[in-house]
Amino acid sequence: MTQPIRAARGSQLTTRGWQQEGALRMLMNNLDPEVAERPDDLVVYGGTGKAARDWPSYHALVRTLTDLREDETMLVQSGRPVGVMRTHEWAPRVLLANSNLVGDWATWPEFRRLEQLGLTMYGQMTAGSWIYIGTQGILQGTYETFAAVAAKRFESTLAGTLTLTAGCGGMGGAQPLAVTMNGGVCLIVDVDRTRLDRRVHDRYLDEVADSLDDAIARVRAAKRERRALSVGVVGNAAEVFPELLTRGVEIDIVTDQTSAHDPLAYLPVGVELAEARDYAAAKPAEFTDRARASMATHVEAMVGFLDAGAEVFDYGNSIRGEAQLGGYQRAFDFPGFVPAYIRPLFCEGRGPFRWAALSGDPADIAATDRAILDLFPENESLARWIKLAGERVAFQGLPARICWLGQGERDRAGVRFNDMVASGELSAPVVIGRDHLDTGSVASPYRETEGMADGSDAIADWPLLNALVNTASGASWVSIHHGGGVGIGRSIHAGQVCVADGTALAGQKIERVLTNDPAMGVIRHVDAGYESAREVADRTGVRVPMTEG
Ligand code: NAD
Repeated sequence: MTQPIRAARGSQLTTRGWQQEGALRMLMNNLDPEVAERPDDLVVYGGTGKAARDWPSYHALVRTLTDLREDETMLVQSGRPVGVMRTHEWAPRVLLANSNLVGDWATWPEFRRLEQLGLTMYGQMTAGSWIYIGTQGILQGTYETFAAVAAKRFESTLAGTLTLTAGCGGMGGAQPLAVTMNGGVCLIVDVDRTRLDRRVHDRYLDEVADSLDDAIARVRAAKRERRALSVGVVGNAAEVFPELLTRGVEIDIVTDQTSAHDPLAYLPVGVELAEARDYAAAKPAEFTDRARASMATHVEAMVGFLDAGAEVFDYGNSIRGEAQLGGYQRAFDFPGFVPAYIRPLFCEGRGPFRWAALSGDPADIAATDRAILDLFPENESLARWIKLAGERVAFQGLPARICWLGQGERDRAGVRFNDMVASGELSAPVVIGRDHLDTGSVASPYRETEGMADGSDAIADWPLLNALVNTASGASWVSIHHGGGVGIGRSIHAGQVCVADGTALAGQKIERVLTNDPAMGVIRHVDAGYESAREVADRTGVRVPMTEG
């Protein structure tokens, strides 16, 4: 236990330079009680995704970053600083590797064994790479996804539709607001009342019903009146989903964001929430079997809704894979959200671009919002998002913003932000990073690379090249992770963050990183045979040797 953590604000350095300061403030921001799900356990989001391995490691990270020089690089092995090397000023100040295991050893039991020995930690995506910004980070992607569902099935609006989902945690908590932002009605199930209450407090969820009957009445009325509304209900999804199917509630869209990627974080039917953690620790194999059996029931109900004509998709938590392990054969009857809705965006190098104001001043984010609108006036959905985000998103920790930008756009935004720091338009530097769920930074056959055109779903050379090129291009910190949102054995992914400190050097680095990072996505999709990616490469000058000559 320690005092609540809160990053420094303002324009005074607490370290030797802004590159280090950015890393230190973002590490601390990840663990701010406003941001992290369980800061006392160093858990940021996504089941057990941590920012540091243990408290001694956390204090060593802070101490080392505080004293780190501008030609030094700190090496972090699964949340523990293990070395400081002399490098140079173009090199990242921090290099991180989280949760990586050799192929045949990449199983949850082996990972848990090593974790218990204190040798590793689960880094999720932006937890162990220090660029989590609270639920807003997923809100934009979730908003885009539901907008794509609306475009595909419901005349570009969710008005008059009812979405059923479960899991109202750090990521899943974005779902109710994303649905109502698209005009729809959302019913969200969670076993933990405190998770639902927290989202009401953060204005992501409108209300919590007293019972399932009460919830059904509220969502039916809103759907009838074509009124946007989100309602939470306490319950186990493996019981509530089948119940709703049996009762014939008119549900149009079904998905799920419980922590299914980690069977020890999914509550099996018949287990009390209060006893779950001790039970999972004492009997992990038994708990896993029961969780998978419940997930099989949960997914069977999802397939029931599919058979009844609903739009059903896996929202990137591996629930289909776990349900299959639990013995349910039709788990993969519905698609993952990436092949269903997101891949065309990835072909354009488009993905989640995010930034945070190290000043702590919301006015800095308002100024960058205006800059984005000014830079990309032709992009209407971007303008709608920036406006809605300004009105509806409550900041958690350091003020931050996210929007999806593509090849040829991210570098322009980054350079503009750096210029704004230099001119004093922003009161302190900003950090610019992204989720690992991006166009060229992840290999994940159940999610980002599911159903690739050339069958290259499991090829993991791409995220490694992505981390190498970002390191070579001048990012401030770069990370390579395993597991992420889909679990051990199922993904390899990489992240980068740049600090825009207003210097000419930072401007050059940002221009290169934010050109090369999305370009990895463009070349990855050209290589897989996507014609639209090839057009983007031609238009933006991304070189692909096998298409030249
Ligand atoms: P979290 O641990 O913060 O929240 C999970 C929630 O599920 C908790 O509130 C928990 O009470 C609830 N829950 C567990 N078992 C349940 C059950 N049987 N019935 C009902 N509720 C139950 O996790 P999170 O950060 O919200 O992430 C959720 C999942 O989404 C994870 O698997 C994560 O890896 C995945 N994820 C997906 C994306 C994406 O791109 N779509 C991105 C990041 C994470």
